[in-house]
Amino acid sequence: RQVYVNGDYLPETEARISVFDRGFLFADGVYEVTLVLDGKLVDFAGHMRRLRRSLGELGMAFALTDEDLLDIHRELIRQNDIEEGLVYLQVTRGSADRDFLFPAEETPNTVVLFTQKKSLVDSPLAERGQHVVTVEDLRWRRCDIKTVQLLYPSMAKMEAKSRGADDAWLVKDGYVTEGSSNNAYIVTPEGTVVTRDLSTDILHGITREAVLQCAEDLQLRIEERPFTVEEAENAAEAFSTSASGLVSPVVRINGREVGPGRPGPIAARLRQIYLERSRASAV
Ligand code: PLP
Repeated sequence: RQVYVNGDYLPETEARISVFDRGFLFADGVYEVTLVLDGKLVDFAGHMRRLRRSLGELGMAFALTDEDLLDIHRELIRQNDIEEGLVYLQVTRGSADRDFLFPAEETPNTVVLFTQKKSLVDSPLAERGQHVVTVEDLRWRRCDIKTVQLLYPSMAKMEAKSRGADDAWLVKDGYVTEGSSNNAYIVTPEGTVVTRDLSTDILHGITREAVLQCAEDLQLRIEERPFTVEEAENAAEAFSTSASGLVSPVVRINGREVGPGRPGPIAARLRQIYLERSRASAV
């Protein structure tokens, strides 16, 4: 596989990053994951907007323009022959002698991109529906910044796996925040789509934004507010959204079936419309 590191395209086995990279030593870096459909990038502009916001919140300078990044994404898609999959982009504050203080502003960033060739549209898990369990949300209080500090979500997903589930839904003060790497939704018995409102408690999902627009255009009732674990367990449907999972139905929460225990019609409809729109607007 060809990867990109600081200006060079090279085989993954030849790529090199400094031992002193602040991404490695301090998780001092941000990332984006963009969906590729038909060899094209879905919602690239949205991912760039969020990347700039993450960099800004961390006071991290970054020289590349969105046009530069689009060229790099496209070149990697070409070199790796990706029809369907993901492009991962990571930007760190660069490498400097280990110190809690940030290095000088002019320290060059480390920029890494790689692709993952994956079948995401035809997904057995989306077909069957995910089983989730709830896990306490012990992440830091700036979950709106997409940092590479992913140890806790990784631990939460491992716990979910050890409890026989596919993913963890994180819970803070009795309310679901989001999934380990996705935004979380329920559909109430009355048919209202509920997902947590935007704040520093969750990542502002690019897929979330697009899927809520689909829901609005389908004239579904939408409530952006926190929901409890109990409300989720008693919902008619549940699902999650992310660039890699698109819209993924959830059919079991803490071992209890959601609705009839099969993927629900609203999640299915949203997945279908989201896919159509993404294919039509990809660049
Ligand atoms: N929430 C978290 C914690 C995530 O890690 C992700 C994606 O990685 C999302 C939500 C979904 O974001 P997006 O739709 O932009 O992929």
